[in-house]
Amino acid sequence: MKAVVIGGGIAGLLAARVLGESCEVVVLERDELSERPEHRAGVPQGRHTHGLLVRGGELLEELFPGLRAELVAAGAVLADAGDVQILNPLGWLAKTPLGLPLLSLSRPLLETGIRRRVDAEVRHGVHVTGLSVRGGAVDGVLTRDGRVDADLVVDASGRSSKLSAWLAAAGVTVPEPEVVDSRTGYATRIYTAPEHFPVVYAESPSAPDLPRGVAAMRVEGDRLMVTAQGAAGDHPPRDPGGYQEFLDSLRVPISEMLADAEPLTPVYLFARTASRRNAFEDVPGWPGGLVAIGDAVCAFNPVYGQGITVAAMQALLFRRHRDFGARGCRAFQREVAKVSRGAWAMSSASDRSWSEARRGGLLGWYLRKWQAGIVRDPDLFRRFVRVVHMVDSPATLFSPAVFRRLARYSRPDRPRGRRPAGPNPR
Ligand SMILES: Cc1cc2nc3c(=O)[nH]c(=O)nc-3n(C[C@H](O)[C@H](O)[C@H](O)COP(=O)(O)OP(=O)(O)OC[C@H]3O[C@@H](n4cnc5c(N)ncnc54)[C@H](O)[C@@H]3O)c2cc1C
Repeated sequence: MKAVVIGGGIAGLLAARVLGESCEVVVLERDELSERPEHRAGVPQGRHTHGLLVRGGELLEELFPGLRAELVAAGAVLADAGDVQILNPLGWLAKTPLGLPLLSLSRPLLETGIRRRVDAEVRHGVHVTGLSVRGGAVDGVLTRDGRVDADLVVDASGRSSKLSAWLAAAGVTVPEPEVVDSRTGYATRIYTAPEHFPVVYAESPSAPDLPRGVAAMRVEGDRLMVTAQGAAGDHPPRDPGGYQEFLDSLRVPISEMLADAEPLTPVYLFARTASRRNAFEDVPGWPGGLVAIGDAVCAFNPVYGQGITVAAMQALLFRRHRDFGARGCRAFQREVAKVSRGAWAMSSASDRSWSEARRGGLLGWYLRKWQAGIVRDPDLFRRFVRVVHMVDSPATLFSPAVFRRLARYSRPDRPRGRRPAGPNPR
């Protein structure tokens, strides 16, 4: 069997890695690719902080044994997932070592590290423009220069995927995706890393009163990637003066911490952050020989750092699936949807708080109750971090023992005004 993967981003590379165990694989990537970890146009998000969740790190290590050590040798910073400094509306999280490895690095380093380890043929500079469909099944892709035959086509072309339009051209109607939009904007600048700066230092935005936040991560090359985040349309600006004022307005004293840091880049913006999921599993007439994974199916608001981990979980589904006829592909898409369900529930419940009167419903209310618990109780912090990093299921947050423990920490439902951050917890 020959599989063609559209897109050589992280989902595409991971799909190629797993499919390569049972078939010939060709990856088609529209960008020209470099051996070096460099920014490229097809992945505009690569300029911004990319947190690799613990579960994602574990899956990558399982797929590419020794990858973590290689990335550390290339400058990535290894830390403990509990050893992070994060301010939520009620205070600093109860920083507690958890024994969970957290790798901090830039997206280009992660992607090139993975690409080097993938055996499949990666053809770069190849722009896919459509599907070749015959007799109700996909038998290849059309490119700007011709076509490439395939028994299976995997769409891993990310947020900008044109799959719905390509299917429409073949007479298959795909419903509009479900969209949850917190209207978050990112602005990122890289600095020299001050010597004692933590590996991860962040202030999380929190609906409805605290739309501003920041995530700063040490990455390879002794650099610090600083992403200012503004929800509900309160976006950080691109000009350096405005960016600095945005940082000055935060509760965390990041401006002071950056006083001696030298900016190494301009400020880069990104604002297409809405969470968006396509119910491909329910599309009548879905053709055989076609599946989709990664952001092309379900893209999350990046503030939760879920995309790479979910893509890895979806790529691993290729180990269990061998039937790629029309029914098999629908069954595959059902599994893809199932894999992203927990992550979608967590992030969309929080994000609905920005726009809906119900503020994310019962789950949104319950997650806000956790804000006090994770500041004051190391055990609740440990449980929450394990769920956020997808090591444990969200179901572990819902037991009678947890309810009892959580009930000790009541907090007003709405944080009132801007509170002082208090001293850094070090
Ligand atoms: C600002 C931002 C920050 C993020 N931060 C995080 C984070 O902290 N942690 C995390 O886990 N995730 C994060 N994500 C999400 C993460 O980038 C993706 O979920 C992850 O990379 C998987 O995406 P993908 O491979 O499906 O798509 P992408 O990484 O976008 O790759 C798609 C690839 O397909 C190629 N392509 C597109 N169209 C075509 C075509 N027609 N023909 C050929 N090639 C094509 C593109 O050039 C690209 O290489 C962030 C996303 C954004 C937007």
